Amino acid sequence: MMDLLAQTLAGTPPAQASGENAMLRWQWLGEGLLEICPQHGYQQAVVISAGIHGNETAPIELLNQLVAQILAGTRPLAVRLLIILGNPPAMRADKRYLTSDMNRMFGGRHSQFSPSGETARAQQLEQVVSAFFTGERAARFHYDLHTAIRSSHLSRFALLPFQPRIYSAEMLALLDAAGLDAIVIHQAPGGTFSHFSSEYQQAASCTLELGKARSFGHNDLQQFSGINRALQALVSGEPLPEREPQLPIRLFRVEKSLIKRSEAFKLFLSDDTANFTPFPQGTLLCEQPDESYQVQHTSEWILFPNPHVAVGLRAGMMLTEVPRSTLF
Ligand SMILES: [Zn+2]
Repeated sequence: MMDLLAQTLAGTPPAQASGENAMLRWQWLGEGLLEICPQHGYQQAVVISAGIHGNETAPIELLNQLVAQILAGTRPLAVRLLIILGNPPAMRADKRYLTSDMNRMFGGRHSQFSPSGETARAQQLEQVVSAFFTGERAARFHYDLHTAIRSSHLSRFALLPFQPRIYSAEMLALLDAAGLDAIVIHQAPGGTFSHFSSEYQQAASCTLELGKARSFGHNDLQQFSGINRALQALVSGEPLPEREPQLPIRLFRVEKSLIKRSEAFKLFLSDDTANFTPFPQGTLLCEQPDESYQVQHTSEWILFPNPHVAVGLRAGMMLTEVPRSTLF
C-alpha cells in the first residue's frame, strides 16, 4: 500500500507508480503528486493540496489519512481526485520554505523570483493542475489547505480568490459545513495557488487556514475534525455534515494591502498581533517615505501582519466586515 507522506518525506519514488482495484485506479505523478480516479464515473474533479508551506503539517497529515482510507477501500471515492503535497524539500526541513514563499509565485509570477527549487516546483504544480483539468467537463474544485503561524481571533477561515464570476454555492456550503469562522474575499488577483486554479482553470477554489500546526506526529487532529468530515463527505459524494459552531460564518473583504515599498517601512503593531484584531478609524498602522496608512472605515481588521517581508511584498491586509449577500 502506498503511503504518500512517508514516500514523500523519504524522497524516493514508490516501487510501483500506478495501480488499480475494482473501485479505483491511481497514478503517482511525481514527488508528492497522486491522482486517483473512480472506476465507475464521477461528477466532480477535485484538487486538494497541502504543504505549499512545508511546516504546516496538520493538513498534510489529514490529507494523507484521507488518501490512505481511499486507497485501502475503507472510504468510497466518488470524485476524480488530485492530491498535492506542495513543497517536499521544505516539509523535510520542517520549514515554511527554503528560498522563497511559493504561495506568492503562481500565475507565472515564479519568473519574477530568483530561480530556486521553489520556482521550479510552482511551475510544475501549475502544469500538473492544468493537465488534470484540461478537457475535464465535470465541476472543478481546488481546496488548498494551510495553517497559520500567528494566533487568530477567528481561528479557521477561508480566503476566496478575486474572480469575475460568482463563487460556487457548493464550495460555500462546504465551508459552512466545515465549521469555519470566517471567509475573506480578495479584491484583486494574487500569486496564491488558489488564485491560479480559479483564474487559469476556472475551478471553484479557496485557501483554507485551519488553525495552528505543530511538527509531524505532534498534531491534535481532533482540532481539525470539522474540515476532515467535510472533505470526507466531498470525496465520497456523501451529504455534508451539520455545521457545529453556534455562530454563523462571518464575511470580510480585503480593503487594503499594506505593501512594503522601502526598507524604512514601519508597521506600528507588536510582533504578536493576532489575525482579525480590530482597529478603530484613524489608527495609524504603517509608515514609509511618502506614504502612511490610517484606518479608513469605522472598524478594520488586520490579517497576516508581517513587517519582515521583502520589499515589494505584502506586509499585511486590512479587512472590513461585509454582509453575506456580498457573495451572491
Ligand atoms: Zn500556509
